Amino acid sequence: MRNQSAAGVVTDLTQAELLTFEAALHEQRSFRLEQLAELADGAGARSAPLGSEVAGALEQAARHALAEIDLALDRLRDGRYGQCVDCGGAVGRDRLEVLPAAARCMPCQHRISSGRPPAADTAQRRILRPVR
Ligand SMILES: [Zn+2]
Repeated sequence: MRNQSAAGVVTDLTQAELLTFEAALHEQRSFRLEQLAELADGAGARSAPLGSEVAGALEQAARHALAEIDLALDRLRDGRYGQCVDCGGAVGRDRLEVLPAAARCMPCQHRISSGRPPAADTAQRRILRPVR
């Protein structure tokens, strides 16, 4: 029986590199949590409609980023980190160095960006879909 769940089946990331990316993800996660706490702190002060709109957009962006980071940490645990959630190919080391939470390879990301924006729950469903 072949073990498909082992890390590095599709990607050629080393254990040391995976640890580096994991540390980066945890760092970004803390940053986002801090950001959300700060936004929640300032919630009482935002009286102007425009101010609350900007804060709302910032909060949404922070929550979205946090969800992507959590999904990336899930993939790390499952040994699927660095594997594109759409095509199953390698996301690429260069891309991960810039964006450790990247879920897709460049071509797949481009395709989605030109259509509708990627949703975290869509990515999750795609992971669960059996791959032939
Ligand atoms: Zn892909």
